[in-house]
Amino acid sequence: MMIADNIGRVREMISEAAVRSGRNPDDIILVAAAKMKSAESVREAVAGGVDAIGENRVQEMLEKNREGAYTNAKLHYIGHLQSNKVRQIVGLCDMIQSVDSPELIALIGKRAASLGIRQNVLIEVNIGREPNKAGVLCEKLPEILEQAAGFPGVFVRGLMAVPPMIGKINTNHNYFDEMYNLFVDIRAKKYDNISMNFLSMGMSDSFIEAIGAGANMVRIGSAIFGERQY
Ligand SMILES: *Cc1c(COP(=O)(O)O)cnc(C)c1O
Repeated sequence: MMIADNIGRVREMISEAAVRSGRNPDDIILVAAAKMKSAESVREAVAGGVDAIGENRVQEMLEKNREGAYTNAKLHYIGHLQSNKVRQIVGLCDMIQSVDSPELIALIGKRAASLGIRQNVLIEVNIGREPNKAGVLCEKLPEILEQAAGFPGVFVRGLMAVPPMIGKINTNHNYFDEMYNLFVDIRAKKYDNISMNFLSMGMSDSFIEAIGAGANMVRIGSAIFGERQY
């Protein structure tokens, strides 16, 4: 049961990082990033006690869903979302973490309204201001939050980021701290129809630092499932 053992080790590291920063380990949500992993592996992760499964590709997610991979699991969409795929995932996913445009907000809002549901979403922030990377720039956040507040079917629950890879950071920026500051600022502003419950950041090679900076949701793939074979 390699996956269950890995989850146990990751949980221990999460707990230590939470306690070091004065928080309750139970408040940190562990999302297993399952791209390119089989339905069988996903079921092992669910049995091993992760809080949610994260998927990056709609097609792959729908296939694994048909194979029963997500029974008894919460499902998060964490990959780049194309507008023509929105209708297939609204309602299926408990959370869409990667919302980064007014167009997506509008499409999710309309689809959720037609299903009579409220879709949980996170707004993805391009905190490293990287060209060709998903996410909104931080100065665009107020605009997108106000727009989202106008769609009763869209429930913004927090922020998500994939900061520049650690090996590529050659500036003085601490992206995790910058994300936490944005999160706290927005929470203090109390936008209508918007909650700042979740700050999703930190992957296999960075979750300890992310939790130290205030993350309460981490997305972990290879440390749970092993390396991906591309
Ligand atoms: C793959 C992926 C992860 C997890 O990456 P690992 O380095 O394998 O832990 C987290 N977030 C997103 C958006 C991903 O695509």
